[in-house]
Amino acid sequence: MTKYKLEYIWLDGYKPVPNLRGKTQIKEFESFPTLDQLPLWGFDGSSTQQAEGRSSDCVLKPVAVFPDGARTNGVLVMCEVMMPDGVTPHESNTRATILDDAGAWFGFEQEYFFYKDGRPLGFPDKGYPPPQGPYYTGVGFSNVGDVARQIVEEHLDLCLHAGINHEGINAEVAKGQWEFQIFGKGSRKAADEMWMARYLLQRLTEKYGIDIEFHCKPLGATDWNGSGMHANFSTEFMRTVGGKEYFEALMKAFEKNVTDHIAVYGPDNHMRLTGHHETQAIDKFSYGIADRGASIRVPHSFVNNGYKGYLEDRRPNSQGDPYAIASQILKTISEVPTSGKASVAA
Ligand code: ADP
Ligand code: MN
Ligand code: MN
Ligand code: MN
Repeated sequence: MTKYKLEYIWLDGYKPVPNLRGKTQIKEFESFPTLDQLPLWGFDGSSTQQAEGRSSDCVLKPVAVFPDGARTNGVLVMCEVMMPDGVTPHESNTRATILDDAGAWFGFEQEYFFYKDGRPLGFPDKGYPPPQGPYYTGVGFSNVGDVARQIVEEHLDLCLHAGINHEGINAEVAKGQWEFQIFGKGSRKAADEMWMARYLLQRLTEKYGIDIEFHCKPLGATDWNGSGMHANFSTEFMRTVGGKEYFEALMKAFEKNVTDHIAVYGPDNHMRLTGHHETQAIDKFSYGIADRGASIRVPHSFVNNGYKGYLEDRRPNSQGDPYAIASQILKTISEVPTSGKASVAA
């Protein structure tokens, strides 16, 4: 038997943005534990804005498990928060609202800033570094500094060790800003892995005295880019049947539900979705082929394949909850009939 360090990780009840929380329990297993071997656990919800002091127990239900490369015999356990009965999802549990769909695929592009001493890593004490231009996908000390790349590489290795399906990394447009992409098949997989990747990034940078700033416009109304988390999505129907008629019906549904989408696409998004810096204005909905100024970008490949494939919703921001985002996208998709003719005939 081996003693494993199980880090149970969950989202707290803070609004508008939940924080990641985690605590360790030690348990013995013959070999690396599988999900169904991991017991329910509990925590004090009155300390995480998830319960009143008088009846404060919340339940942690393991939903995904990953090897923890930073700890000997370490296990990362992503959890949903449940009510004391262990079966009713807590109201903060956005994961529980995601429709089951094994054929749904998501790819999230997470942008973020490294922050130190209240400003982006590499910014001078006062004022600004030379303007944006050379930093995006840049190389060299004056472009990316002396430690950011080391952290990004360490983070990538931790994620790959955990089995997280990273697809790539790049330095972004603003100084101190970076991106990574995660892709997953199944309606919850990419979102689970995104939250775990965020956890690993925040934990990793503790030892560097650096924070991760997920706010979508940390430098306010300046010429410095904000951060997004573009959500690329497809369903089995979109990939294999699709068609122009279905696509147009889908876009109508997205337009009708614009308020519901913006509500879960991350706070302060009006600061970022201005119609400038490759964004559409927050109060408008549009789509366009290869259009990075649209709400939804339609890849060339989608049109070339007869309106089949994936679409990119460019509105979700860096601080958005990927569970809530995936949930809303699948809800809107579910409102559009996949056999148009039948519904017209009826
Ligand atoms: P860009 O920055 O040009 O938008 P990226 O390469 O950063 O492009 O992101 C594209 C994303 O699209 C990736 O995360 C990828 O996993 C995702 N993706 C590709 N094919 C599909 C698909 N069929 N369904 C959902 N997402 C997809
Ligand atoms: Mn990208
Ligand atoms: Mn980007
Ligand atoms: Mn993108």
